[in-house]
Amino acid sequence: MTIVGVLNRVFQKNRMARCLTGDIGLNVSIPDLKVKCHYCKKYKSLKGIHEGIDPENEGRKSIIYYCKKCKNIYIHEKKKAAEKRKKLNEALNL
Ligand SMILES: [Zn+2]
Repeated sequence: MTIVGVLNRVFQKNRMARCLTGDIGLNVSIPDLKVKCHYCKKYKSLKGIHEGIDPENEGRKSIIYYCKKCKNIYIHEKKKAAEKRKKLNEALNL
């Protein structure tokens, strides 16, 4: 059983939301279970945290967490990464 699986069972018992799938030890403040936002570096409660693939590390499928306030930054970074990939592909096809 995975660590995430075990934690999720604990969370369910305590009627808590869920466990995130990334490097929990690095990003989660225990025991208040706040998650550090990748962009503003502030600890926010789980409810206000989004989970996504790091646009700067898409190939490695790194997971990052970001808060509601930083959602626009995430979308912007994702677009930027997609454009970069597109340009690279175009260059390779020439
Ligand atoms: Zn943030």
